[in-house]
Amino acid sequence: MTKDYQEHTLESSDGSTVVLLRCDGYDQKRVDETVARGISMLSGAARFAAQGEHILLKPNLLVAKPPERAVTTHPAVFRAAARAFRDTGAELHYGDSTGFGRIETVARRSGIAAVAEELGIPLADFRAGRTVSFPDGHTIKQFVIAEGALEADGIISLSKLKTHALTRFTGAIKNMFGCVPGMLKGEFHGRLNKMDKFASMLVDLNRLLRPRLHIMDGIVGMEGNGPHNGKPRPLNALLFSTDPVALDAVACRLIHLDPALVPTEYWGKQLGLGDYTNVHVTGDAVETLACPDFKVKRDKEFSADTMHPLLSRLMKNYVVPRPVIREERCIKCGNCVKICPVNPKALDFPDANGQSPPRYAYKRCIRCYCCQEICPEGAIEVETPLLGRLIHR
Ligand code: SF4
Ligand code: SF4
Repeated sequence: MTKDYQEHTLESSDGSTVVLLRCDGYDQKRVDETVARGISMLSGAARFAAQGEHILLKPNLLVAKPPERAVTTHPAVFRAAARAFRDTGAELHYGDSTGFGRIETVARRSGIAAVAEELGIPLADFRAGRTVSFPDGHTIKQFVIAEGALEADGIISLSKLKTHALTRFTGAIKNMFGCVPGMLKGEFHGRLNKMDKFASMLVDLNRLLRPRLHIMDGIVGMEGNGPHNGKPRPLNALLFSTDPVALDAVACRLIHLDPALVPTEYWGKQLGLGDYTNVHVTGDAVETLACPDFKVKRDKEFSADTMHPLLSRLMKNYVVPRPVIREERCIKCGNCVKICPVNPKALDFPDANGQSPPRYAYKRCIRCYCCQEICPEGAIEVETPLLGRLIHR
């Protein structure tokens, strides 16, 4: 995958269209108006949903946090999208497979369940899954997909703009990972332990599910230690597109991140899901909403995946970023140990009674950062070893 930095400011009238609209805050009236305008600029809700169709609204419901933590799609955006699509006469459902915890708990804490109840939108079944073959898959030719996603005639993705330790950024493309039920998501991390494999799997998943429309909540994004424990950062942006690669590219440009450094962007273009180099932005100009000091990983990374095994091992130990536990914040809940997908685990409690924080066995760690993503206290951070820092400098 190319690592050369290029400012992809190319805008073309024949590329995929991304609607970018300013929306200052979550005042419901303003969000309703902006979402309605964004959808109408892409020809209106009737283009994406018809009377009687079964439409799935797919927000990001990673873990149980209140909306102001910016971990999950904000309920005001969910409400605005739900109202817009309800007016088409479609039957709406919503759902996601959480990173940790029961979906009912996560939906309630995030404020989404209250909106769904108010609008009479039932929760789809994301616990059970069914095997679906995908012969055109580049990396995966068979997925297990949540029933709730398979039963839908169409999907409207409602993603959240956040940083991510593994893929740098999580937005439209990564949002579809929630259509894989429960613990099977962790298995993918274990099986696809190379970044490019994992990213191309996410692109395959999007090619299979093909959401009809992607709406991104970038009104308040998350910077730093995302996607769970970073800091909320206002960006005042809502984005709309049928092309998740183009949409994520515009989101990257808002946070001054080169899309070519985001593996899901690279593979999205390679596998024909969309294009990050040929995007037509309409609505507000990127420059008017850009946030150049947004905290996101912008360093080029050395891929150890394709190197000689010995060099790869050295790179992994001394250059590639690794998770570390800030012991003073650790409450010893064990979530990180439970979620670690490798066998034997790459981190565990050093004593049977769990009195001390877990410890890493970095030799076994595949750098999937699931532990960092799930820690409820933000006690796990991703740190680049000294040699890696020197090289990047
Ligand atoms: S998930 Fe976080 S708080 Fe829980 S044991 Fe692991 S490091 Fe500690
Ligand atoms: S220790 Fe953390 S980063 Fe390493 S394999 Fe386990 S979950 Fe992934």
